[in-house]
Amino acid sequence: MVTALEKLRKYLDKIRDKNKEFNIFLELFSEEELIKKAKEVDEKIKNKRAGRLAGYFIGVKPNINVLGLHASCSSKVLENYLSTYDATVIKKIKDEDGIILGMVNSDEFACGSSGETSAFSPVRNPTNPNLIPGGSSSGSAACVAAGFCDLSLGSDTGGSIRNPASHCGVVGIKPSYASVSRYGLIDLSMSLDQIGPFARTVSDAALLLDVIRGKDENDSISLNSKKLNLNDLGKKKDFVLGILDFKINNSKIQNLIDKKIKEIKKKYNWKIKKIKIDHIDLAIETYYPIVYTEFFSGTRKLDGRKYGKKIEDFCGPEVLRRILGGAEITKAEHEGRNYHLALRVKKLIEKEYSEAFKEVEIILSPTVPRLPHKIGEKISVEEMYSYDALTIPSNLAGNCSMSLPVGKVEGIPVGIQIMADKFNEQKMLEVASLIEKTNETK
Ligand code: GLN
Repeated sequence: MVTALEKLRKYLDKIRDKNKEFNIFLELFSEEELIKKAKEVDEKIKNKRAGRLAGYFIGVKPNINVLGLHASCSSKVLENYLSTYDATVIKKIKDEDGIILGMVNSDEFACGSSGETSAFSPVRNPTNPNLIPGGSSSGSAACVAAGFCDLSLGSDTGGSIRNPASHCGVVGIKPSYASVSRYGLIDLSMSLDQIGPFARTVSDAALLLDVIRGKDENDSISLNSKKLNLNDLGKKKDFVLGILDFKINNSKIQNLIDKKIKEIKKKYNWKIKKIKIDHIDLAIETYYPIVYTEFFSGTRKLDGRKYGKKIEDFCGPEVLRRILGGAEITKAEHEGRNYHLALRVKKLIEKEYSEAFKEVEIILSPTVPRLPHKIGEKISVEEMYSYDALTIPSNLAGNCSMSLPVGKVEGIPVGIQIMADKFNEQKMLEVASLIEKTNETK
């Protein structure tokens, strides 16, 4: 068996060799420190005292606090902000002997769908360096896809885990809202944000999710959830699946997904129904007023006095757009109208999904309705926002959802989105692992 130390050396060699090209890691713990930790883990493995993540190396999105690293949010505003504590998810990882390698790049303050809003230049997609890796957890998906580490953490407010997972050909999970503590996460939009895992396989992603989930007294809205039964992943079972009735413009992506659905239906004999979510067309329009308002409110502490620099003076254009938009929406004369209207539609979408989940156990769709663009290619704000048309709904509904690679279109990885009702991660993962099996037989 390879030791943690051998594995670490392999990862560090790869990072030294390729990180300049892909621009994934912004910061690593010192080699000396990492070697010390790897030796400690090897010792624990030898003495049979090791935790569940012993031998796993992990990259972290820089909006999650890790003691001793910079939680820069890939922004000039917080570039010198050194974390003084561990987020709850980090504490849980350390308690299970996972080793954090360092901080990866992302969109600035998690605002974006391509990775290009980072103040430290975009991440390149490891499957094709001319393309965006997707965002905002660009580095989190890319570090796993590039083979720089085993696992990573990202955050998903409207698709920021699933979207880059799809473009980079890895597994990414957005857990149910409130199932993973947000303590130590720098908010984009507190009523939508969730921290979640990336991995190369469903079982590794499930393992990390099981470690980080659960109620936390430091996050008052967090809730307890059932322990995942990882042994049941890959076991054949009956499921009733829903196919989302939604037309996307890219027929090649749609065909790939349709083909996969046909294949799994045949192989597992699963029942399949069409599912329509009437207000899904309003998802993007509902999402942004909520995000602008909550982001504006959350960033008021970034006034240059306590944390970093004054945000308006040092942020990039996308972050500024949201701050100005949020300032407008929250003006006293509007009496909170747009925010409250958006919250009402959010409730409506949430209700529609809970109705749908009375009929089916899982809802499938493409993860992203379009292929990633070339880095630097000019696309409109609307086009950028449209990457998330199919991922935003589960943030609004608060249920769990993930992206699993199912093939390639024009040589670019494409993911299927697997969605389940709130706190039904177990079912979602069981279906995912069975679909994953059909990939392996190719
Ligand atoms: N692309 C979406 C946005 O820009 C989603 C971001 C996210 O999930 N963090 O807000």
